Amino acid sequence: MGSTAEAMSTKQARQIIHVDMDAFYASVEQRDQPELRNRPVIVGGSRTRGVVSACSYEARAFGVRSAMPLARAVQLCPEAVVLPVRMEAYKAVSRKIFAIFRQFTDRVEPLSIDEAFLDVTGCERLLGEAVSIAQNIRNSIRKELALPASAGVAPNKYLAKLASEAAKPDGLKVIHPHEIEAFILPLPIGALWGIGSKGRERLNRLGINTIGELRRLSLAQLIQLFGVTGQRFYELARGIDDRPIIMDDTVKSIGQEETFPADLFDVDTLQTHLLRLTEKVASRLRKKSLLASALTIKVKYGNFEQVTRSKTLENPSASVPEFYPVAKELLSRTESGQRGIRLLGVTAGNLVPCETSQMSLFEDKCEKKKGKALDEAIDRIREKYGDPGITRGTLVD
Ligand SMILES: [Mg+2]
Repeated sequence: MGSTAEAMSTKQARQIIHVDMDAFYASVEQRDQPELRNRPVIVGGSRTRGVVSACSYEARAFGVRSAMPLARAVQLCPEAVVLPVRMEAYKAVSRKIFAIFRQFTDRVEPLSIDEAFLDVTGCERLLGEAVSIAQNIRNSIRKELALPASAGVAPNKYLAKLASEAAKPDGLKVIHPHEIEAFILPLPIGALWGIGSKGRERLNRLGINTIGELRRLSLAQLIQLFGVTGQRFYELARGIDDRPIIMDDTVKSIGQEETFPADLFDVDTLQTHLLRLTEKVASRLRKKSLLASALTIKVKYGNFEQVTRSKTLENPSASVPEFYPVAKELLSRTESGQRGIRLLGVTAGNLVPCETSQMSLFEDKCEKKKGKALDEAIDRIREKYGDPGITRGTLVD
């Protein structure tokens, strides 16, 4: 096997969803004013001033486009209803849309008020699961907000965005790894992320109009033409895009602690609480698709004196069967059993995303699927019914 193929096989494909609302401002107006439905609606200002911020698909049929001067848009579509921008209303809807995204994953990268990337790469998940998540998101937006959204599902951000564009309006498009070539080759070079009108002209002069034609240029030729950007074009033209999802809030650690109504002396009881805290931390890690490389426990004695004990894990993990023995060992390095304990805490640190190359590590280390399946079953029950106090009997001494 060649080294590239080997590298590819050990690297798990990512699952990226791009969700984009259709004609967002105009759709909100049509929703809020039913008499505007099925009519050409332009949001942007007055009939004589400003530019088009958004236009309904009925207006697009007349050639109206975003960023077009309104006077021109009204010329193209005299029967259009022109409305002012109600930014506060759209922002309120946007918050609800992002809340829906975050019901499915915390790994959300907002691109604009109505558009985001979601990374749903996960343990044992196939692209099929990403597709059903994308469909569920579209259904939730439709049901809860009565608005249309389109979604693209693909192994990276670049392709996911192209897919959602191809899905519009009100559609879902999946680009499976084996479909990348067929999808990408016929696209115009304007579909290359970051190419400007100058770059397009330069390529057009060389007789290059599609991505397929661009593929005839070598990496060296592209770098000669565009500098470092040439390398990016070379990769995008092959459907390669390793940019990660950039979340607003990069999580540094995840912790959970509990203060007891009365100081605890009994080690068995403390261990039961320790297990529950460990489960909560592991569950939150999995929800954020993160693995931890370090575990810390915090103990506060009855007199408020506080100690912490930490250990670095051999391999990053989000697994209770791996965390719990470490947490127990850390507890044994405190004065538990001898002094009353009023507070116990567990924190997972040195977090890394649970994706790509780390995945194989994770799967190997995930207590041979069985422990992981149990972890995930508990996660699901918790999500559905809250925390019913499930504990795994086998792990409690
Ligand atoms: Mg949009």
